[in-house]
Amino acid sequence: MADCIFCKIVAKEMNSKIVYEDEKIMAIEDINPVAPVHILIIPKKHIASLDAVTDEDLELMGHIQLTASKLAKKLGLNQNGYRLVNNCGSWGGQTVFHIHYHLLGGRAFAWPPG
Ligand code: C5P
Repeated sequence: MADCIFCKIVAKEMNSKIVYEDEKIMAIEDINPVAPVHILIIPKKHIASLDAVTDEDLELMGHIQLTASKLAKKLGLNQNGYRLVNNCGSWGGQTVFHIHYHLLGGRAFAWPPG
């Protein structure tokens, strides 16, 4: 998508700190971290939100979750636990409309969310 910021990041038309990449996804450091570890896991395919996912995306969605688990282990987040978050739509707090998951760790998180 021409004016999608995450499409530009995955195409490397915009700078980002890449922590993982394969043919389907990219993981980058969030530019405005809300935890000591704040990584965004972004599919290379443009999907606007979780609401726009289809059966065709089943493998991709599983791949994102498995990669989050592997990255969490690699970074030692699994010792104390971590959080994987998807914000969907305006009430869900989504601001960038290219689906992504926040991998958050390095501190304890409260529940329920604000
Ligand atoms: O879930 P939500 O859509 O609100 O999250 C978007 C995230 O993308 C924010 O945490 C923001 O800091 C991050 N971001 C980024 N690099 C950009 C634009 C946004 O890391 N260039």
